[in-house]
Order: sequence, then structure tokens, then C-alpha cells
Amino acid sequence: VGVTAALLLAKQGVAVTVLEAAPFFDPAKSGSKAICQQRDVLDILDRIGVAGPMLAEAVTWTRGRTFYRAREIATTEFEDPGESPTPPWVNISQCSTERYLLERAAKEPLVSLRYGERVVGIRTEGEQVLLELERPSGARSSLTARWVLGADGSHSSVRRLVGVGFPGESYDDQFLIVDIRADLPFPNERHFHFDPPWNPGRQVLIHQCPDRVWRIDWQVPSDYDLEAERRTGALDERIRRVVGRTTPYEVVWLSVYRFHERVAERFREGRVFLLGDAAHIVAPFGARGLNSGIQDAENLAWKLALVEHGVVHEDAAERLLDSYDAERRAAALENVAITSETMRFLVPRSEADWRRRVEILEAAARDPAAASAVNSGRFAEPYPYAASPLTTTSAAAPGAEAPEGTPRVGLEPGSLFPDAPCRVEGRPEVRRVRDLFGVGFVALAPDAATRAAVEGELEDAVRLLPGLPVRSYDAEAITAPARKRTLADLVRDGRPRVFVIRPDGHVAAALDAASFPRGSVVRALARACGLDASVVDRTTPGTTS
Ligand SMILES: Cc1cc2nc3c(=O)[nH]c(=O)nc-3n(C[C@H](O)[C@H](O)[C@H](O)COP(=O)(O)OP(=O)(O)OC[C@H]3O[C@@H](n4cnc5c(N)ncnc54)[C@H](O)[C@@H]3O)c2cc1C
Repeated sequence: VGVTAALLLAKQGVAVTVLEAAPFFDPAKSGSKAICQQRDVLDILDRIGVAGPMLAEAVTWTRGRTFYRAREIATTEFEDPGESPTPPWVNISQCSTERYLLERAAKEPLVSLRYGERVVGIRTEGEQVLLELERPSGARSSLTARWVLGADGSHSSVRRLVGVGFPGESYDDQFLIVDIRADLPFPNERHFHFDPPWNPGRQVLIHQCPDRVWRIDWQVPSDYDLEAERRTGALDERIRRVVGRTTPYEVVWLSVYRFHERVAERFREGRVFLLGDAAHIVAPFGARGLNSGIQDAENLAWKLALVEHGVVHEDAAERLLDSYDAERRAAALENVAITSETMRFLVPRSEADWRRRVEILEAAARDPAAASAVNSGRFAEPYPYAASPLTTTSAAAPGAEAPEGTPRVGLEPGSLFPDAPCRVEGRPEVRRVRDLFGVGFVALAPDAATRAAVEGELEDAVRLLPGLPVRSYDAEAITAPARKRTLADLVRDGRPRVFVIRPDGHVAAALDAASFPRGSVVRALARACGLDASVVDRTTPGTTS
């Protein structure tokens, strides 16, 4: 997550030093861990040049199947709300993802990667943060930085050093993960087995990974002893029950873990931010760990870049940076709520919950309509920032509730703008809508006449916020022949609207193109940069709130 943040900041012209406590990158130590990466997260990684090699290596999957004993009770197909070239899910070992990120960072002049430097002290002095560092030899040194991004994992020293609590729960139950290499006749789907004959009363999850590797995840009792299983041959027996008696296999990675559900009390403490596992940890079912950490990095990078480049300052800068906490902490709390519900189903902690689980599974085995109550993990999705103070909605006010049913990927304020293939004249590098995002804001008008009106507003916006990176496009001029949906179709979906889109691709405002009052685009941009609406009215003639 830290290296992703560094690359996203570098893409926006901000120099970053990455401090890594480990003396060098050791794939064996880093381990397989996160394997499932989600489509919209791959798009973030695509902006920093890492998705290409990941996609070339990864296994793609589009279907999840759930079984109870010997019977299949549910099938989930992952649909595309837009028209993306990226698959809904890929499986790739976390150490490969890390390797591609590190290789990319090593080539990026604005990123300095420093291994063997552990952060052991933090002190803020005015506009500087003083970091105390320790090398494996015990030698100490210091470094000053304008901002610190604490992406140092669940045991985060940064979080502890700035005095932010990490409340939540840890669970007793254990899971055994074994990645094995073998030729197995399973398709590349997610298979989740409740109470299979080969792990009675508990569950087993199987995923295909690249290079003939299979991730098998067993729920095991809280007193499970891996060493004893190894010694007695019970581990081999356990694996054989899945792969068959005669199939040769090789263990590639093996780990026993307990799961935790914790969210940091604050994601920002002055000039220090918390990201990834340092800010939140959840049970892995649903793949909400690394995926949401990368979304943290994306959310923070453009805000810090605007502040660092002096586009936004003083109170507005404070509000913009505080919105990282408002938006990403809300996402983390949602993730915890969702995975806690999954864990309540997977590992019931009361007699009543056990009974409920058996009843639901039995009902699903009899009637497919009952399968929606079976919870084997709800998969990671983007979080819509509909209630964010940066978002212009009809109900927009700090602390307002997100309008019910805001799509996660869609055209409503707060949603992540959908993808579609497209071509923009004079910009051969743009092949899809999401290529328009990443650096700066985008104002998307449905036609040329509306774009001309929007352009006038962008001049006002740049007068108000000198240096604001923003471009406008006329959806009609953006072509995409021979595909089912063009950008113009998207923008005209329902009624024609002008979309103000943030650098991270989330919709900051969706204004009625037929009747938007003068100044609305400026106000939406200003709001998305943390400015107070009253400042916009004072400084932009002809606008009204
Ligand atoms: C079994 C398992 C399966 C999972 N499956 C998935 C999945 O399928 N999909 C998914 O999205 N997520 C999954 N996750 C979660 C995912 O692995 C984590 O969310 C992810 O590793 C978080 O990345 P991070 O960069 O925040 O933290 P980490 O990966 O923990 O990285 C932190 C880094 O900081 C360094 N560090 C620590 N302290 C210091 C210090 N004081 N100074 C300098 N450096 C320091 C560490 O050496 C490390 O390199 C899974 C996790 C587990 C355990």
C-alpha cells in the first residue's frame, strides 16, 4: 500500500521516500497472502503501470460457486456495470504484486526506496515531521518530511507513535492456508464448501492461482496444531482428501492465521496519515484487505498532490485532507460491518447462530431461492462517497447520509464513474474512459454547446484555484466505434448531465445539463477541493448558492 501511494504521488509530481524496515525484498517472507484483486483496484494499479504485468501473470475468474456437503447451493457471476477491459477478479500472489510494484518504483525518479530503515520515532515541528530511523545494526538516523503516510501494516509503529488507538476484535478461530502446486481438474472459479465430507462441520475455500498453484483454506479448531499435523502425516492426509490419493503435489506456502476486525480511531493525525492494514484489518473473506488499502492510497494521493502543489491551502487544505479520514474511514467501517456478518455465519459464536447457519444451509439445499441468505463472503467493491463533504448532492452537507442506493459504480454523485471504450482526438494513449482520470479533475459535457459553457466556468475555477488541474471533454466528440456503449451514451443515460469527476474517478457532481445555473461547475470543483461554498460566492461574480 505504501509503495502504491508513492507511485500515485509520483505520477502527480510529488517526490516520495519509502522507508521499509526489512533489509531487502524477500518474496518468501512476504508470502502469498492477498491473492484476489478486484477490477476497479486493477484500474488504479494500471495508472501506475503495474496492472499489465499482473494481468499477464494472473488467473482470471468470473464465477464463485458455493457448496453445502455434496450439493451446489449458489453461483455468483460478477457483472460489469460499465464495459471494462479488466476482468472482475484476478488471482495473483501478493508477493508477485509487491514485486511488480517495487520494480516500477525502482524506475521512478521521484520515488526513493530505502530498505533496512525502520521508523522508531515521530515528532511534528511546525510544517515538518521529524522521523527517527533505525537500521538492523541498531544505528540510528533521522529524516524530515512534510507529510508521513503510515502504511506499515497491522502492527503499525506509526499508528502507535502518534497515539491513535486500534479498537475492534480478534477472534479465536484459526484458518490454515496451504498453497500447493499440482495438476488438478478444477475450473478457475472460486469454490466455497460448507461442511464438505473432507472437513466435516467446517468449511474449505479453493482458489486457482497462476503457475498450477491452488490456494486451499481450511477452517480449523482454535487449538489446531500445525506442527503436530506435519509430524503425524495428518497434513498430507488433509491435502490428499482434496487433491486425490495419487496426484503429485508440492507445498508452495503454508500459514495458520487468526482473523481480526479493527479500524483506527482516526486516519489522520496532523501531518501523519494511516493507510492499509495500519488503518484497518478485516477477515480475508471478501478480499477487502489489500483492495481497500490500494483505494486508500488512491484517495489520499490526489488530495496531498493538490496541497503540495499549492493549489489548495490553509483551511481548504485542512478540509481536503480531513476528507481522507471521512471517506476512507467510512469505507473501512463498512468493510468491517460486512466481514463481521460473514464471520458470524462462517464461525458462529453462539448456539443460536449455529442453528441459524444450519437452517439457512439446509433451506438453500432444498430451494435455490433461499441461497441469498448464505454468506461465504461479500466481495470487495468501491465505496461510494455520496455523503462526503466533497461531494455535491442534493443533500450535500457535512455528515449527511448517503442517498439510499447510490451505485458503487455509476453516474450518481459519489459513485465511481463506469468504464467504456473510447478514443479522444489527438490523445492516442486514451483507450478507455478511465484513462481520462488519475491526474486532475475532468468535466464531462454531453455535447459541444454545453462544453463551451463549461469551459467558461473552468476559467473561473482556475482563477479561484490557480494551478487547478482540470480538463473538459465533449462526450459527442469522443468516439468508440463497434462497441455496445460509447461515452456519449453513458453521459446521456437518463437525462443529459455535466459530470464533475475527481482525479480518483469518483463523481463529485452530476449537474442537469439543460438547466445548470452559472457557477455550479465552479462550486462543485471548489467543494471537491475543500473550499467553503461562501468563498466561491464571494470570489466568483455572477454565481449564487
Ligand atoms: C491469509 C491472508 C489472505 C488475504 N487475502 C487477501 C485477498 O485475497 N485480497 C485482499 O485484498 N487482501 C487480502 N489479505 C489482506 C492483505 O494481505 C493485507 O491487507 C495487505 O498486506 C496490507 O498491505 P499493507 O501494505 O497495508 O501492509 P503490509 O503488507 O503489512 O506491509 C507493511 C510494510 O511495512 C513494513 N514496516 C512495518 N513496520 C515498519 C516500520 N516501523 N518502519 C518501516 N517499515 C515498516 C513491513 O516490513 C511491510 O513491508 C489477506 C491477508 C491474509 C493474512
